Amino acid sequence: MSRLQLLTLALLAASLGRAAPVPAAGHPLVIVIHGGAGVIERARMTPEREASYRAGLAAALDAGYTVLEHGGSSLDAVGAAVRTMEDDPQFNAGRGAVLNHDGICELDAAIMDGSGPRAGAVAGVHHVKNPIDLARLVMDRSAHVLLAGAGAEEFALAQGVVLVPESYFLTPGRVHELEEEKRAAASQEPTAPLPLRPGAAAQPKGLGTVGAVALDREGRLAAATSTGGLTNKLYGRIGDTPIIGAGTYADESCAVSGTGQGEFYIRQVVAYDICAMVHYQHLPLAQAVDTMIHGKLRRSGGEGGVIALDRDGNYAMDFNSAGMHRGVRDSRGHREIAMYRDAN
Ligand code: ASP
Repeated sequence: MSRLQLLTLALLAASLGRAAPVPAAGHPLVIVIHGGAGVIERARMTPEREASYRAGLAAALDAGYTVLEHGGSSLDAVGAAVRTMEDDPQFNAGRGAVLNHDGICELDAAIMDGSGPRAGAVAGVHHVKNPIDLARLVMDRSAHVLLAGAGAEEFALAQGVVLVPESYFLTPGRVHELEEEKRAAASQEPTAPLPLRPGAAAQPKGLGTVGAVALDREGRLAAATSTGGLTNKLYGRIGDTPIIGAGTYADESCAVSGTGQGEFYIRQVVAYDICAMVHYQHLPLAQAVDTMIHGKLRRSGGEGGVIALDRDGNYAMDFNSAGMHRGVRDSRGHREIAMYRDAN
């Protein structure tokens, strides 16, 4: 064997043994995030609040993109983006989550690795600082997909996850929202509890469920979502976020994270249905999302939106509500943050 051949072999062996993934041609890096859908209109927004939301979205977008840029997985990227928004009290996830009827936060989260597919989720936790990290641990270190309530917190303790007192999540704004919501609910039919009645998401309260979908250089898709659910929800209510296929889903061809009235997302199996249209009907992603959000979901009375991404890096950020906090960044140089119905 010539010296040149030996050198080539040595270089090949060294590159195979490297820890960082080798860039694969044809897979753009993409991350798409949302920070909740609902009544988000310029007329109701102060310049300060708008700037603050945009800064929060930008921080999450960049946290996720940095992971991808350094060769990290889409799974780590969506976790980083969602964790950033859980720590930001203006979003309805982690600190700053909305309150249930009893005045406490019950948090739901899910994460899914489309290349497995593997999934982990938690529901109704009260003390877990970052529910998205616990969802990841359920996926990585348990034989289960979904853990709820006290059992989920016992698992968190055993895994050394950061637990915090319930007061950590409370913010004055969410306490005020609950009072307002209870006052509004008192004037409603008792058979139509406010969080569930059609159009409830049209109230500018409880906004800010967070989610992310990403594509990494290996071509793997992932999705993650985290929420406090709906203001004034009944104790024990679980929304679509931790229900795999409803509010969160990823497979090898498509990843989706939703935000809106969870009961509608569960009944329409929104996230899976979008991916099924892409996978089985070979619909372009944007068309599958449009069919769901402006067709099936709207017809059923559900309001909200989704972010979605396919394995070619095509993405959609679509909603049938007045607005949706959203953002996208990719390796083709595109970076965008928007809130309103128009492109801004
Ligand atoms: N989908 C969430 C839930 O119903 C709420 C939201 O996205 O605003 O729990």
